[in-house]
Amino acid sequence: MIIQPKVRGFICTTAHPTGCARNVQDQIDYVKQHSASAQGPKNVLVIGCSTGYGLASRIVSAFGHKANTLGVMFEKEPTERRPASAGWYNTRAFETAASAEGLYAKSMNMDAFSHEAKADVIAEIKANLGKIDLVVYSLASPRRKDPDNGEVYSSVLKPIGEPVSRKTLNTDTREVSEISLEPASDEEIASTVKVMGGEDWELWINALLEANVLAENAKTTAYTYIGRELTFPIYGKATIGKAKEDLDRAATAIQAKLKPLNGDARVSVLKAVVTQSSSAIPVMPLYISLLYRVMKEQGTHEGCIEQIHQLLTGELYGDGELTLDESGRVRVDLKELTDEVQGKVEALWHQVTTENLTDLTDFEGYQKEFFQLFGFGYEDVDYDADVSPEV
Ligand code: NAD
Repeated sequence: MIIQPKVRGFICTTAHPTGCARNVQDQIDYVKQHSASAQGPKNVLVIGCSTGYGLASRIVSAFGHKANTLGVMFEKEPTERRPASAGWYNTRAFETAASAEGLYAKSMNMDAFSHEAKADVIAEIKANLGKIDLVVYSLASPRRKDPDNGEVYSSVLKPIGEPVSRKTLNTDTREVSEISLEPASDEEIASTVKVMGGEDWELWINALLEANVLAENAKTTAYTYIGRELTFPIYGKATIGKAKEDLDRAATAIQAKLKPLNGDARVSVLKAVVTQSSSAIPVMPLYISLLYRVMKEQGTHEGCIEQIHQLLTGELYGDGELTLDESGRVRVDLKELTDEVQGKVEALWHQVTTENLTDLTDFEGYQKEFFQLFGFGYEDVDYDADVSPEV
């Protein structure tokens, strides 16, 4: 089958197995070129392991710390006539590379919100891993089925309180325009918290504790984005930000539960990067295109793998003190938030139009990374070659 990109709105509906393997290999190479901390996790569970920040967490754990990794994901398998989703190909490539180095790597393609996924993961840990010493919670999902009553909750990306008008970029048509978003209802806010808040993270830790499969000194972290004024109206102070605040509540509750094990739970704040999830959030693609330009010029640009390498080797398993904010979150996003970076992004923000998009932003870089998420746009991959979608 010849597999070409098919973009619909902010998503690419096809993925290329060779290109996805190349994306994973680039991240493995980065980790191998950068030393890991002496003390690292040995058995790692990554919930949301197949793309973006979760995939990077798995790669740093395995290839930086030589850890065994168990992953949970929600991905589309291939058929004879239809390619799999990118996360499915990424995971196959990761497992092949990890096994080649003698590392245990198993992945479960299941709904992480379900009781079944938790039970299956625990059975697998008991059978093959013993105990887990790091649990990474990196889910990004538009909906969640409540595991007890079967009710399905959907998250919305809307402001809270007031309507918001903001510049945005249609990444498909390259048009900069103004979008107006009406504020969310109380029910929509509550649903978003239900999907993207801390409840499921807590359920995972409760289940793992109850099954006695967490090791002494076990750590867990869940990922968040905070940002600053430019993105506050649609992220930090909007429905998704409200859901992310709930992670802080969950972290405190989990910390208390992990005390007997001398464990720790932290929300980790990461920078804005191109992922399947961030490309779906209005305003973020324009913000990221500007941010990439400014941070590349400054020499401080980072993607998923650089951020997670810093988080695991420099912070959670580093020699020094954690870089914490007043709420006890680990901060690896601070270079994005300096007055200098934000001031430059904002100045460009006011000037950018459809006509000057290429000159003022790094939309080329944004788009390149976007296509690479699906395994496209690598110069050394032959996209006219016949490949089997079933890896
Ligand atoms: P992503 O879309 O690349 O990854 C989401 C992962 O969750 C995938 O592995 C997917 O398979 C998995 N998943 C989704 N629903 C699932 C389900 N029901 N069961 C099992 N697995 C499921 O997203 P990402 O951008 O890497 O986001 C991961 C976390 O990082 C999120 O909490 C996000 O808020 C946070 N974060 C993202 C950014 C950013 O700019 N992208 C910045 C800071 C923090």
